[in-house]
Amino acid sequence: MQAKPRQPDAETPDAGIVAQVQAEAASLDALHGHLTPQEIIVRSVERFDGGIAAVSSFGADSAVLLHMIAEVDRNLPIVFLDTGKHFGETLDYRDALAADFGLTDIRIVTPDEAALARIDPLGDLHKSDTDACCDVRKVEPMARGVEPFGAWFTGRKRFQASTRSALAAFEQVGPRFRINPLARWGTSDLADYMRKHALRENPLVAYGYLSIGCFPCTQPVKPGEDARSGRWAGQAKTECGIHLSGLEQSLTDTSL
Ligand code: SF4
Repeated sequence: MQAKPRQPDAETPDAGIVAQVQAEAASLDALHGHLTPQEIIVRSVERFDGGIAAVSSFGADSAVLLHMIAEVDRNLPIVFLDTGKHFGETLDYRDALAADFGLTDIRIVTPDEAALARIDPLGDLHKSDTDACCDVRKVEPMARGVEPFGAWFTGRKRFQASTRSALAAFEQVGPRFRINPLARWGTSDLADYMRKHALRENPLVAYGYLSIGCFPCTQPVKPGEDARSGRWAGQAKTECGIHLSGLEQSLTDTSL
């Protein structure tokens, strides 16, 4: 097991603030969690005026959330994590969608160079320790990416994985809010929306990549198979950590 990337000096966020955010996230979820994704986005932009972003992988169905956001505010910051291991198609798709929707503030976050040199100097850590690789290429950079914001949108859905089956629209992550407007949507909702708005599809979908991450850890799936079964296939791993406790810990470690 490799050492984790070094974090800045640890400082635990104020427990009172964390409790306050937790209570407000629960309250927002009770109040708005049942609304349409578009209504959730509008309410959230109003509530977190100027302090909200979205994170996007520009993956298989990222166009849906990004299109909805652009309809509300095309200047909203969009954080894209460039792990250095993406498919070329994903990077091209990112640029094409940004142009399609007129998104003006794509913020590209990359792994820390010094940490990469120390932990993954040959760029092949994913072959021996995917958790350590995700820590240095995803979790720590994502913590930095969302650090300036009090809240951020994700495109996560309940149907995607057993770990997401009870996903709330509004969540607390340390002293921050994570908002999942599409939590209740299913595959047919997404397909209908893509069709209705004639949204550009990630070209990898046509090759059977229904959940798209880094090139070394993503495989196409067969018709009828779980979309996320192509991620870290053959391993127990189902999440990279940016949506689990890894990020929360990273956020805690960096006093975010
Ligand atoms: Fe590394 Fe694979 Fe995680 Fe990408 S998905 S950061 S290549 S282990």
